[in-house]
Amino acid sequence: MTGPDSVMCPGFENVREASARLSGVAHVTPVMTSRQADAQTGASLFFKMENLQRGGAFKFRGAYNAVASLSMDARRAGVVAFSSGNHALSVALACRLLGVKATIIMPNDAPLAKMAAARDYGAEVILYDRATGDRDAMAADLADQRGLAVIPPFDHPDVIAGQGTATAELIEAVGPLDYLFVPVGGGGLIAGSALAAAALSPECRVVGVEPEAGDDGRRSFESGSIVTIDTPDTIADGARTRSLGEYPFHIIRRHVRRMTTVSDAALEWQMSFFLQRMKLLVEPTGCLGAAAAFAEAEKGARIGVIVSGGNVDLPALGRLAAA
Ligand SMILES: *Cc1c(COP(=O)(O)O)cnc(C)c1O
Repeated sequence: MTGPDSVMCPGFENVREASARLSGVAHVTPVMTSRQADAQTGASLFFKMENLQRGGAFKFRGAYNAVASLSMDARRAGVVAFSSGNHALSVALACRLLGVKATIIMPNDAPLAKMAAARDYGAEVILYDRATGDRDAMAADLADQRGLAVIPPFDHPDVIAGQGTATAELIEAVGPLDYLFVPVGGGGLIAGSALAAAALSPECRVVGVEPEAGDDGRRSFESGSIVTIDTPDTIADGARTRSLGEYPFHIIRRHVRRMTTVSDAALEWQMSFFLQRMKLLVEPTGCLGAAAAFAEAEKGARIGVIVSGGNVDLPALGRLAAA
């Protein structure tokens, strides 16, 4: 049986090791504040700007940590990753930095900018049809045929440990928090974040945020077993996952206080806020935590917000500006 209780979950010591591996490689992204945000919420908000991370999202942290943790033999053989976006880019970039050959499996409807960026980083990109293809099976086949290591987007201890380094930096920069709002797709980011928060700010309540259309994580959290849904229809493309991963779920159950959702309209409002008020480009998925913090902030609380990414297609930005 490989149920959640028998998986070997990472701990905070693994987040620490990841921080050491990422030192001098990943950016220590800035923590920003906004008087306007504080006035509007009555709280003190600390935004950890992972839209300014290499590759445009926190995903670089987990991807680099996972590739750098492979044995030398595995590195020589190369890696395969599947993702529509930020994870693919991050694996491609991590592999270029570490001299490892990357094969990336992407849906044929992935943003062109992301496909092009993966190729620019030197990865081989293989496209599949979202409706008919099974990317897990494709990755497994490629891994078998070519002897490649699979780097999954969230359900992997080294990926989770890497993602946790952003929250470790945030708490080290601003001190203990009352709340931490974190975007949730497959749960790798919040799992790592929760490990770091539990160790560095034990009173901090970690809140996971999903798009309204894809609340499988909340339903899983509340029911106690992983719920799988159809691919949700939302502008938060980084959270269009069908279920939480097993490692993330196990950690979420132990260390996360609550799960909540926000509407696509709230994400659009939040994107405009970041652009107009803070001069920051944040992708819709990157706005999940902030949108929930604006809606639910407790007055007077110190609230950390993980702003998870900034990869936006220009046409999508144009539509937002025109709306
Ligand atoms: C992948 C991604 C998420 C969700 O991360 P998970 O580890 O899958 O929960 C959130 N925001 C952005 C920008 C992402 O790329």
